[in-house]
Amino acid sequence: MKNIVYQAYDGLYINLTNKCPCDCTFCERNIMDRVGDSDSLWLEHEPSFREVIDAFNNYDVDKFSEIIFCGFGEPTERFDVLLEIAAYVKKTWNKKLRLNTNGLGSLVNGRNIAPDLSGLIDTVSISLNTPDPKSYLEIVKPKFGEGSFEALLDFAEECTKYVPNVVLSTVETTITKEQEKECAAICERIGARYRIREFEG
Ligand code: SF4
Repeated sequence: MKNIVYQAYDGLYINLTNKCPCDCTFCERNIMDRVGDSDSLWLEHEPSFREVIDAFNNYDVDKFSEIIFCGFGEPTERFDVLLEIAAYVKKTWNKKLRLNTNGLGSLVNGRNIAPDLSGLIDTVSISLNTPDPKSYLEIVKPKFGEGSFEALLDFAEECTKYVPNVVLSTVETTITKEQEKECAAICERIGARYRIREFEG
């Protein structure tokens, strides 16, 4: 059963958890059970460090240029094991690592987690979704409520100090061109790159 490490697009992905503090209106979990070559991304239990490393055995890791923390949940919900795996992957295969996140990891862990990414994570990709806090709450429905959008931006700005490539993304056609300009201005202010992702729905 492939549900911990899976291949999608050109990357190798790690599915650490099904926990997430959000309930996004567009969440893929609501419409599908699997992505890429996985059998299912619903986990029977959260995998241990050893189970994740063993799951790499299904692949020739050297073939991949990037390993990505991204599955049916928010990877920073398992931050300790994430760091352990990142260190192992760097040491064993010296691969680029990306963290796909909702940007609320510091709220999830109750502390600023950005410094811990230093030297381990090469890219942090954060779903911005919208340039304004009110619509963010409506779309993402974070359990932390008001202040979540600001916490996301704080996290992104912190990450720029420790991670070479910080990307904030929105999905094309889901916001207006004017809102995209506002997102671009936010990214410029905090020193992140802005990316408009293709609509996949
Ligand atoms: S943050 Fe990601 S996993 Fe969580 S609800 Fe939103 S889209 Fe789904």
